[in-house]
Amino acid sequence: MAQPALNVVSAPFYADALSVAQLMQPEQAVFCFSAEALKARLAQFTAGFPGTVSFAVKSNPSREVAGALAAAGLQHWDVASVHEMALVHSVAPHAHFHYHNPVKSRREIFNAYHKFGCRRFAVDAREEVAKIADIVGSDHSVELAVRFVLPRDRATSAHDFSTKFGAPEHTAIELLQDIQRRGYVPVMTFHPGSQSRDPVVYARQIEAAARIARAAGVHVGKLNVGGGFPASYPLSRPAPLAHFFATIAEAATRHFGKGLEPQMECEPGRGLVANTMSLLTRIKLVCSDGDDIFLNDGVYGGLMEFMQVPELQPPHRVIRDGKVLAGPTKPWKVFGPTCDPLDVLPAKLDLPIDLKDEDYVEFGTLGAYGIATSTMFNGYGNHAVVPVGEVYNG
Ligand SMILES: *Cc1c(COP(=O)(O)O)cnc(C)c1O
Repeated sequence: MAQPALNVVSAPFYADALSVAQLMQPEQAVFCFSAEALKARLAQFTAGFPGTVSFAVKSNPSREVAGALAAAGLQHWDVASVHEMALVHSVAPHAHFHYHNPVKSRREIFNAYHKFGCRRFAVDAREEVAKIADIVGSDHSVELAVRFVLPRDRATSAHDFSTKFGAPEHTAIELLQDIQRRGYVPVMTFHPGSQSRDPVVYARQIEAAARIARAAGVHVGKLNVGGGFPASYPLSRPAPLAHFFATIAEAATRHFGKGLEPQMECEPGRGLVANTMSLLTRIKLVCSDGDDIFLNDGVYGGLMEFMQVPELQPPHRVIRDGKVLAGPTKPWKVFGPTCDPLDVLPAKLDLPIDLKDEDYVEFGTLGAYGIATSTMFNGYGNHAVVPVGEVYNG
């Protein structure tokens, strides 16, 4: 059935960030968001992934993104907290939630279950299963997704997730048996790490899921392959999504058997939204006797992930009078606006020699983990989201 029309994202008044810079002249840093780009990317996922597509809200918890996805008909949402459920609920009242943060307090489980109708919870510890059972009792419609982890090398993704969450194989087997014994619906899930480099990592995890389910003697009807789908960055150009989808479908058939594949699910964050937002910053000061510039945003704002994972360096360009500033460049040391000495980008940026204060610097590919991890440190970070037709991705 068609979703009710949601007008959360107003029609873009600005064609792109160039016209935002020229006409709006924002004094604070803003995110420029293309709902069209997001709709097109979602269509790639729903057409190509062999199963259900949800969105990992943590990667971009803005109303604009949630509203655009709801308007495009997205039904399932991977959430890390009850706050995220409230956000999604405000734009998509019939949303189905997957509460896939493996660690939740009793109060969080209670609110997710009773206030937001959540019937899917991830677990990677026996104690978490017992906590959920205390709260949901004999409701056997509740699905418990066992998050497992494999020992593996760290080179398979830009951002390794295996160090915090996930049950090792022998624990995952016991968890599946415990869930079955208690009468809940057993599901399995993993996360291969963010910005996966090679589709083969999904195949290895799917093979392990089949092995674990067999060892437990438990029928697993649903398998969630997590996020980790790559986006395009200047220093990280991934294989096309279609290769990932084909590898996943093929591995499910090979390891579970033809006709016996579990219903597959994915929950992309980065791969869905990274290339739908850019960050438009403004230069506050150019030190002419050196190579230092100061911007109105930095690593405590939209550029935190660049500091954490330098491989995910965003593309950048300078805008003056509504045009891209050309000319010879040199490396500049780029500071953010706070009074903290750590507030400096982890690499010098090549920018035109002729920089002036009030020029704009736009950073592309910041739709994932840009707005999400921005802080209000020193009073900065309350970014507006400006709708644009086209988004800059380098
Ligand atoms: C972070 C996370 C995601 C999204 O990961 P991406 O690499 O951004 O796609 C999905 N599922 C879970 C459980 C996560 O923690």
